[in-house]
Amino acid sequence: MGLLVETDVMFLDCPAYLDKQGAVRCGLPAQVEDRYTAESTDGPLECAKVRCPLGHVFNGTIESLTGYKCPTRPVSR
Ligand SMILES: [Zn+2]
Repeated sequence: MGLLVETDVMFLDCPAYLDKQGAVRCGLPAQVEDRYTAESTDGPLECAKVRCPLGHVFNGTIESLTGYKCPTRPVSR
């Protein structure tokens, strides 16, 4: 991590549910507006605030925002 990442615009698939059963996800590219680190009992967690073109806004850990799509994604500590 360094100053170089500041110019990168990151996108995540929007994790918003479009139905009450949670079977359909929004999935549009949600822009990462802010990234920060939150302390937890397991150590620092990488968090982000994202906003998709439909106005869905999410604020949470990177893992919670992307985990549904990449369950086998390696966790770096
Ligand atoms: Zn969305």
